[in-house]
Amino acid sequence: MNQEKKSLPKLLSKISQVATQIKREIVLMEVCGTHTQTVSQNGIRSLLPRNVKLLTGPGCPVCVTAQEDIDGVVALAKAGIPIATYGDMLRVPGFFGSLEEARGQGAKVFSVYSVEEALELQKDYPELVFFGLGFETTTPMTAVALKKGLTVFSAHKIFLPAMEALLKTEETRIDGFISPGHIATIIGTKPFEHLKVAQVIAGFEAEDVLVAIYLLLCQIRDGKKEVENEYVRLVKKNGNEIAQKVIAENFKICAGNWRGFGKIPNSGLEVKNPELNAKIKYQAILSKIDFSQSKKLTGCRCGEIIRGTLNPKQCPMFGKACTPENPYGPCMVSQEGACRNYLQYRV
Ligand code: SF4
Repeated sequence: MNQEKKSLPKLLSKISQVATQIKREIVLMEVCGTHTQTVSQNGIRSLLPRNVKLLTGPGCPVCVTAQEDIDGVVALAKAGIPIATYGDMLRVPGFFGSLEEARGQGAKVFSVYSVEEALELQKDYPELVFFGLGFETTTPMTAVALKKGLTVFSAHKIFLPAMEALLKTEETRIDGFISPGHIATIIGTKPFEHLKVAQVIAGFEAEDVLVAIYLLLCQIRDGKKEVENEYVRLVKKNGNEIAQKVIAENFKICAGNWRGFGKIPNSGLEVKNPELNAKIKYQAILSKIDFSQSKKLTGCRCGEIIRGTLNPKQCPMFGKACTPENPYGPCMVSQEGACRNYLQYRV
């Protein structure tokens, strides 16, 4: 099929033909928040053959941000440090409340669309801390802002170790990944080859996702574990080397703390410059937090949702106690969260 786009009914028919040839349940996973949205908006799950299960994985940056990081930033806000971060993160409940609630209590908390906005705010609030989160797609922007002198509390993450962790766990058998197109534009296709599983790096239209599913099924039928690139219009073998360089200059690799996984070696990015690293600069405040409390949260099961071991509809609070207006966890807050998408599009 290569890059030729087929009409949706034709693609679905081809998917169905290959799925029939495989004769067992096939478990695929999409690991990008934008794919989660495309799949949900277009009702793709309900169109797939009965033996093809499509799970949602840890692709939503807000959802995978660890409770301890949220609690740390809320503590800084409450201690009088001005905080700026991306909108969805404001409403994620921490153990000590959300950033939005801290703002309601008088803390200086700003919702921004870009690091440039945070840099502008820094002119009025020199103590401002930017709560940086996301994968290789958003990290380069934070890295550039660091070069310009922005102080950052980093929850940025390297994505591939999480995919590797999913493959190592015995909780879920994954036959293939729809791999994240946005991240691949930065890191290229090569690093994905490290994962020994069928993968298709895909774009974000419904057709892209269906082509990816078809190509994955063909690989699985033929016993292959390769990396195919469906998103050739933007993803190149070596990725964006300028973005990679600016990340490497401003961040050092460490163990990343993920909601749903805990610490994953070599999956975190910490600010190199100690003067701009909020975790070092404000260590006196952060060291007083009882982080053991951070793990106790309200019965929300986002951790299992993120690992693909629970379907949002299996959470007893889904759509009842927990809604986008009254979210118990990040998966219901974020536009890219599995729970929110399942509810919004009645998956
Ligand atoms: Fe958490 Fe709400 Fe999702 Fe349940 S429905 S896992 S409480 S976000």
